[in-house]
Amino acid sequence: MYDVKNILLAVDFSKDSEFIGLRGIDLAKRYGAKLFLAHVVIDLNSHFFPQIFISSMSDDVERQMIDSAEKQLKELAEKLDLPEAECLVEVGTPKAGILKAVQKHDIDLIVVGSHGLGGVDTVLGSTADSILHKSPVDVFVVRLPN
Ligand code: AMP
Repeated sequence: MYDVKNILLAVDFSKDSEFIGLRGIDLAKRYGAKLFLAHVVIDLNSHFFPQIFISSMSDDVERQMIDSAEKQLKELAEKLDLPEAECLVEVGTPKAGILKAVQKHDIDLIVVGSHGLGGVDTVLGSTADSILHKSPVDVFVVRLPN
């Protein structure tokens, strides 16, 4: 029988994160699975701003972004009444960070929104699209209104 023990909810803190969370809760109840709430903080050093940030400065900014993400994940877990959910913060691109968390925590199912902060210009947002192509496990894409 198809078994799902660990479900990862990928959230970017856009307004639809709660809606994605509710879908995840529903799936977790059906499978009797554990929920992980995950956010990926962009890696300032190696991805977008190597010329702008000197390393120690970007380390400070990154630490603040990680702290802020941890706080926001806990707030989201409280709003969703999920005190038992594990909150995960990874650093990297959203795709790489989510796939890293999948390996680390033995995730069986990823839940993502069809679009997030990236907008709705295409059928799928770039994060959802790239995860679908590379994920070793099933991906549940929550259709979000435009
Ligand atoms: P996007 O493709 O960026 O429009 O986002 C689509 C979905 O990918 C969002 O609804 C989230 O579920 C997930 N996602 C995007 N960025 C992140 C991030 N930084 N951390 C975790 N999940 C993300």
